[in-house]
Amino acid sequence: MTDQRWVYSFEDINDALEMYKGDWKKVTGLLGGKGANLARMCSIGITVPSGFTISTECCNKYLELENEFPEGMWDQALVALKKVEENTGKKIGDKKNPLLVSCRSGAAQSMPGMMDTVLNIGLNDETAKAMVALTNDERFVYDSYRRLVQGFGAIVLGIDDEKFEHPLGNYKKEKGFKFDNELKADNWKEVLELYNKVIMEEKGMKFPQDPMEQIKMSIKAVFSSWNVPRAIQYRERTGIPHTLGTAVNLQTMVFGNMGEEHSGTGVAFTRNPSNGKKEIFGEFLFNAQGEDVVAGIRNALPISALNDKLPKCYEQFIQECAKLENYFKEMQDVEFTIEQGKLYFLQTRNAKRTAVSRFKTMFDMVEEGLIDKKTAIKRISSDDVDMMLHPQFDPNVLKLAQKQGKLFATGVAASPGAAVGKMYFSSKKCVEMAKEGPVIMCRPFTKPDDVDGMFASKGLFTAEGGATSHAAVVARQFGIPCVVGCNVLIDEEKKTVTINGITLNEGDWVSIDGTTGSIYSAKIPTIQVKLEEQKHFMSILQWCDEFCAKEGIRDIKNGPSRGLMVWANADTAEDATRARSFGAQGIGLCRTEHQFLGDRAGILREFILTEDKDKKKEALDKLEVLQTKDFEELFIAMTDLPVVVRLIDPPLHEFLPDLLELTREVYELRGKGEKNEEKELMLKKAEQMHESNPMLGLRGVRLSIVLRQLVAMQTTAITQGAINAKKKGFNPVPEIMIPLVGHPNELKEIQPEVEEVSQNLLKKNNVEIEIKIGTMIEIPRACLVAPQLTKYAKFFSFGTNDLTQMTFGYSRDDAESGFLLKYVEDDILPRNPFKSVDQIGVGRLIKMCVDEGRESQPMMDIGVCGEHGGDPKSIKFFSQAGLTYVSCSAYRVPVARLSACHAILD
Ligand code: ADP
Ligand code: MG
Ligand code: MG
Repeated sequence: MTDQRWVYSFEDINDALEMYKGDWKKVTGLLGGKGANLARMCSIGITVPSGFTISTECCNKYLELENEFPEGMWDQALVALKKVEENTGKKIGDKKNPLLVSCRSGAAQSMPGMMDTVLNIGLNDETAKAMVALTNDERFVYDSYRRLVQGFGAIVLGIDDEKFEHPLGNYKKEKGFKFDNELKADNWKEVLELYNKVIMEEKGMKFPQDPMEQIKMSIKAVFSSWNVPRAIQYRERTGIPHTLGTAVNLQTMVFGNMGEEHSGTGVAFTRNPSNGKKEIFGEFLFNAQGEDVVAGIRNALPISALNDKLPKCYEQFIQECAKLENYFKEMQDVEFTIEQGKLYFLQTRNAKRTAVSRFKTMFDMVEEGLIDKKTAIKRISSDDVDMMLHPQFDPNVLKLAQKQGKLFATGVAASPGAAVGKMYFSSKKCVEMAKEGPVIMCRPFTKPDDVDGMFASKGLFTAEGGATSHAAVVARQFGIPCVVGCNVLIDEEKKTVTINGITLNEGDWVSIDGTTGSIYSAKIPTIQVKLEEQKHFMSILQWCDEFCAKEGIRDIKNGPSRGLMVWANADTAEDATRARSFGAQGIGLCRTEHQFLGDRAGILREFILTEDKDKKKEALDKLEVLQTKDFEELFIAMTDLPVVVRLIDPPLHEFLPDLLELTREVYELRGKGEKNEEKELMLKKAEQMHESNPMLGLRGVRLSIVLRQLVAMQTTAITQGAINAKKKGFNPVPEIMIPLVGHPNELKEIQPEVEEVSQNLLKKNNVEIEIKIGTMIEIPRACLVAPQLTKYAKFFSFGTNDLTQMTFGYSRDDAESGFLLKYVEDDILPRNPFKSVDQIGVGRLIKMCVDEGRESQPMMDIGVCGEHGGDPKSIKFFSQAGLTYVSCSAYRVPVARLSACHAILD
């Protein structure tokens, strides 16, 4: 097969495009990002130095042939080179007008680790003389020549760059030069001799004088660089397939280093990469080549400097940037060079930018009519949304801290966002010091006792634990930046923390980045984006909602919904208000037991401990008053939107002190001959209530069945709360959810009572409110009997946490602190099923339940509450399964809104 096409001149892009039927993605795969975009610029009339691309397929073939060019390739390259010679009027190796080229690697995705670019290929002792005659600038020519020898030696021959830098440094010292631009032509000639020696010493060969040999060797080096360890490692880390290969671009050299007046080189963004403003943002250096601008050798000038000195070029540049944006329909990041007043583009690609800039540029481009809303949404990632929600370090101060070596420790990035404060080691101290200023908590690990301190802190880091440790889970739920598992040594006595021989003391300033997992021993100020002011962020998420929502998602007559709604889990009016401000369209889970915490725990304890009926009732009445108030506030905060209140769920002994501790305490007292009545009673009760498997014990609906008084009290509080809200002019939409049902008879037992209590109360108050009663689906059996459940339940909500636990037969805590990590590492499980829903197993149950449930009740709301509701991958699955909504923590709501939309766009 000699007719395979390996080489494409920039102007032949249409051949490749035709081959792939107009699919630019595939063309980019063939020619690499750099090559494809050079050709595309060429095709819209932007001036690009003439050149050609050797395809990624050729790279693969070359490697397959163990470093041989495939048949036909070199001939094709010679033809393409001839074309370049025609285009430029120059000739390779010509003694009058020699063609010089650069050799640039370029895979489909930009990838560090690949071979660097070699500039000035084609120079040798002869062509150098020709260039001197042409340019009349000997200094420029010999500087370029020595750059080629250095670049070729280092990049193509693989000689350590130091071997070139060192003699140059010595030479400059000897001659009393400080900067490269002080060297004259003769100096560079002498350096060139030094470099030639280096190559001879290191490789036992002469620098190849034959330009064709230079080209050949450079191409081979690019292909081979695909498999250098650095590149392989990078691909493994980022999941880029090893089979893509890299393309090679050979391109006519243009020179920005031909004098101070009319030549130079620059890089620019077509819009501002930090804030997204529509203005060219870039830097320019006169009399410079290649990476001089990025390397920061001299201070680059703002792009406007170009306007002052070369206004025509500047104007052309601005116009071409606009042309590029119009063509690529995306913000670009370009490299360009001006050679004696003539502008060339050397590269363009979609620009990287901050999240703020991403939202603004996407919003603006829709307004400008450049792209549609769908395209804009697709280009935003959940990371972009995340970054908007959490504070970030001031980038300038961060850079400085990094330069000064202030990185103290690293760990698992457990909860995103940056935080800065003085460090303390106990929960109590954190609470106390938080009154004086921002604090950061540092603990070996955290327990429920530490929660007060966590709330008081701006952020925390722990020595132990992984991404699902207590610290990590709580921090994520409440949006506290957190790094866990830092392997630091904490001395709580001395109040110090040590790692790598560096010790910090209590009260020292630290800055932690929960997005990257870094801890700095420095005070780095943070910047928080004010979401309310982020018109673009808010609007784009609004578009997401519009794509998802339908003329009434709950109205089956208008056809099935297009996508998911996003609700939030919130236990208090304050939580709910926050969730609503993030765009939640309902509360999918209000855990009533969270209202029993703090000073209220005593009342519930009273209820549990006393055997006296009147006293029991008294305790319940007290709780009822408190809960009624809570619900009223919650319904007011969520007026017009549904609020799903779950009846009490956890085993009651969770409200008593820990059995072991209690036992120890009582026995200690007894040992001293003391007997504390209350503690004795508590122990007796705790012993009675002790279960060997509380997760599978007396909890959920079972509690309601065994302790009837609780159901009536909670239903009354919910209903009365709604009545109060309504009387104040609000529109409460309460729904009551019965948890942990496995058998329809459990619902049959409880649902009528809930119905009766609430209806009676509504009638008594002469108020009409629809209160839907539904059930949580979290036991596999419930999924199997969905049709029977719909007799009593008007909605379903999957508790995917418990459903995952029970389907796998894992206890989450034990699994995550135990074997799960090994399971994932050893590929026994593809991922932690508590993070991203297990679609094949748990998902199958969900689908079955949805399909069979909807068969009997087609208009039923079916949602998901629990952490999976905020996970983009799971959201996609829930969307396809036909759910009505996902409910997640307030901080995940914006991410979920985007993901819900992504799920239906692609
Ligand atoms: P990278 O992928 O690292 O950006 P490039 O291939 O873009 O590598 O090249 C490195 C530098 O050399 C860039 O500044 C680029 O503009 C410059 N360069 C590459 N080819 C040429 C050329 N033909 N003429 C002038 N400068 C070039
Ligand atoms: Mg580079
Ligand atoms: Mg580049």
